[in-house]
Order: sequence, then structure tokens, then C-alpha cells
Amino acid sequence: MECDQKTLRHLRYPEIFALGDVAGVPKGKTAASVKWQVPVVEDHLIAAIEGKEGTATYDGYTSCPLITRVGRAMLVEFDYNNNLVPSFPGAIAPLEELWISWLMKEVALKATYNAMLRGKA
Ligand SMILES: Cc1cc2nc3c(=O)[nH]c(=O)nc-3n(C[C@H](O)[C@H](O)[C@H](O)COP(=O)(O)OP(=O)(O)OC[C@H]3O[C@@H](n4cnc5c(N)ncnc54)[C@H](O)[C@@H]3O)c2cc1C
Repeated sequence: MECDQKTLRHLRYPEIFALGDVAGVPKGKTAASVKWQVPVVEDHLIAAIEGKEGTATYDGYTSCPLITRVGRAMLVEFDYNNNLVPSFPGAIAPLEELWISWLMKEVALKATYNAMLRGKA
């Protein structure tokens, strides 16, 4: 769906917004992206209902948990401009194969995705 990259608003039908894989943005085809897109769309929808302009913007955040071997993974997070935007700076180095990143992918993220499906994350 064609949309503004920052507001996720349809370019021709301003009352329509895009979320998830269907959004016509150059990056952000992950569930992790959806987590960052939802608050942006929520901000603009509520503002529209109140007759105002929303201010929130989506920066293209996406996350690629790459399992490199059993017990090791890289948690690479980046934005539209390919800037690294780690969620745990200092704790999880995005460009290193780490046990903690593997644990995140194998254990923690699954629970997060399930919570998202229930609207709790
Ligand atoms: C192998 C693989 C691994 C991935 N790993 C990760 C990961 O580790 N982390 C991460 O963040 N993301 C990951 N992703 C990406 C993530 O799964 C998607 O970005 C996310 O599911 C997109 O959510 P969505 O709701 O936009 O689309 P979808 O999850 O695709 O949901 C769309 C839904 O619409 C339904 N649908 C389609 N057409 C119709 C219709 N005509 N009528 C009614 N229903 C319809 C579909 O059946 C589907 O249920 C992975 C994707 C793949 C394929």
C-alpha cells in the first residue's frame, strides 16, 4: 500500500494508514517493525479523530535476529538510513555473534511476539 514513509498515511486517501508487511516502505518488513509502527499510526488516528495533525514518525526501524550457528546469533537493528539502532546498547553488540542474542531469538522474542498478538506488548 502506497504510504508516506514517516507517517504511514496513504498518499491519496488520508484517512487510511498502513501497518506491517503491506506498508509500502523500503524497510520494515518484520514483526519488530510493526511494534514501532503501531504507536505512530495510533498517534495520527487519534489526532485525526480530534481534528488535529499527529506528530509521531516512523524511522524505518527493523530488526533481524540472525542465527549464525547453534548457540550464537546477531541481533541487527537498523533504520531507513541503515543506522544501527540497538535496543540494548552496551549489552548486545549488533555486529557480534553472541550467546545472549541467540537466547533473545530463541526464548525472549517468541514471548514478545505472542504478547504483541494479544495487544500486550
Ligand atoms: C521465515 C520468516 C521468519 C521471520 N522472522 C522474523 C523475526 O524473527 N522477527 C520479526 O520481527 N519478523 C520476522 N519475520 C517477518 C514477520 O513474520 C512479518 O513481518 C510479520 O508477520 C508481518 O505481519 P503482518 O500482520 O503485516 O502480515 P502477516 O503476518 O502476513 O498477516 C497477514 C494476514 O492476512 C491474511 N490474509 C491475506 N490475504 C487475506 C485476505 N484476502 N483475506 C483475509 N485475510 C488475508 C494472511 O493469511 C495473514 O494471516 C519473519 C518472516 C518470515 C517469512
